[in-house]
Order: sequence, then structure tokens, then C-alpha cells
Amino acid sequence: MQPSFHGLRALVTGAGKGIGRDTVKALHARGAGVVAVSRTNADLVHLVDECPGVQPVCVDLGDWESTERALAGVGPVDLLVNNAAVALSQPFLEVTKEAFDRSFSVNLRPVFQLSQMAARSMIQRGVPGSIVNVSSMVAHVTFPNLSTYSSTKGAMTMLTKAMALELGPHKIRVNSVNPTVVLTAMGRRVIEDAELAQKLKARHPLRKFAEVEDVVNSILFLLSDLSASTSGSCILVDAGYLAS
Ligand code: NAP
Repeated sequence: MQPSFHGLRALVTGAGKGIGRDTVKALHARGAGVVAVSRTNADLVHLVDECPGVQPVCVDLGDWESTERALAGVGPVDLLVNNAAVALSQPFLEVTKEAFDRSFSVNLRPVFQLSQMAARSMIQRGVPGSIVNVSSMVAHVTFPNLSTYSSTKGAMTMLTKAMALELGPHKIRVNSVNPTVVLTAMGRRVIEDAELAQKLKARHPLRKFAEVEDVVNSILFLLSDLSASTSGSCILVDAGYLAS
């Protein structure tokens, strides 16, 4: 069953490329009014060309004050997808303060900031809502050189549950989607070594990585009423990796 989002407004972060971009396109195609937030203006210009009516917001989500200003005028939303992230690869012994701060200020802090903004407005208007946090399977398993990135995603697991607990009485559901490797710009950067990629793929019971479409479908399911009784939960889109 294909969910419809007619009459609803959605905000998607990290909308310029990869999973965020295809999430905007899918929501737009299914009738939602969409606010697309990303960092590179050219990406947003192309996205609006493809999806007329999408409202672009160009901002670095790692900057709290700029984000507050940029989002002040976008109006209320019913659906929020916290998707923007950076994956900075460093061996644990070489992790820098800069990489740590940047990772948490882009991957986690905006989840607090944008979810607060969205949820306060939902509560004030007395409407239900759904928030989806795009996490990763590395919230649950280790992966070389990704200690900082996976720490942000591990923290996102508890944040998703804490938000579900506190926002549930207001009929706001909060869930996460946790993919394995997806060959977007980010995925290709993390899996640069072809031999490592083959070995890693072979460790997945389904012998593949995830497609962008697989992740988007799970996001749409969690945003929609098809998952009306699901909150504080996560959907693994991991080709069976965590079962192995
Ligand atoms: P991607 O192709 O690198 O796209 C990320 C998008 O987020 C880009 O449009 C990027 O804009 C934007 N973004 C990054 N930092 C930002 C900031 N500070 N402010 C505003 N926008 C920002 O990544 P993806 O693969 O689609 O990843 C999407 C989500 O899936 C992330 O949460 C990621 O952790 C998760 N995930 C990805 C994989 C994978 O293998 N790809 C696996 C598991 C989970 P710029 O390019 O302009 O910076």
C-alpha cells in the first residue's frame, strides 16, 4: 500500500543529495508540501526544478543560530525527517576535537533543535505528528575508523526513545531508520576500498548493501499512519547484517 501525504507538510534535512533528496521527491510525489533543508544551494535549486513547490532552505545545520534564523519563517510541519549527517572517518587514536564537535553538531544537535521546533508547534496546534531520525546500523555494530560517527548514531537511538516517551502523550511518534551501507556520496566515501566493500557485502546475509529506495520506503512507512502504533522503535534496513 502506498501512503498518501496530501494535506500534510514535511521538513527534510540533508535534502540536497542521497537519501534526503529522494525522500523529498517521494513525499512531493505523494502530495505533501515539503520544506527541503540543505547546505549547498545548487543542490536545492536543482531539486526545486524537479519538484516545483518544494520550499528550499539553505543553511549549515551545524550553526544553531543560523538554523534558528533560517527556519523561523517556514511555518508549521506535521512530518519531520532528521536526515543530515557527516561521516568523518578517523582511527579512534587520531580523533580530533574538531571532528568530534563537527560530527555531534551536525548529526545530533539539529535533531534536538528541529524536533523541538516541530513538536512545540504540533503541540500548540493540537495536531499529531511523526518524526523519523535517519540513523545507521553502526548505532548497533562497530565499524573501523567510525567511532565518532557511530557515537552520534548510538546517541540517536536513546534520543529517539526519549523523544518517543515525552512526545507520545501529544500523539507525536518518533522512530529511526538504521541502514547498512547505501552507495550515496557518503557511502562511497566510507567504502572507498573495493576489496573491503566486497568483503563487507559478503558478510550481509542478502549479499548486498541497501538501495536508497529501500531506506526511503521505510521512512515513508514510519511517517505514515501505516505505522500508527509504532513509536520509539527502529527499522533496520541492513540486508540482514545484524542477524549474522
Ligand atoms: P549524503 O549523500 O552525503 O547526503 C547528505 C546530505 O546532507 C547532503 O545534501 C549534505 O549537504 C547534507 N548535509 C550534510 N551536512 C549538513 C549540514 N551541516 N547542514 C545542512 N545539510 C547538511 O549522505 P546520505 O548517504 O544520503 O546520508 C543520509 C543519512 O543516512 C545520514 O544521516 C547518514 O548518516 C545515514 N546513513 C547513510 C549510510 C550510507 O552508507 N550512505 C548508511 C547508514 C546511514 P552537502 O553535501 O551540501 O554538505
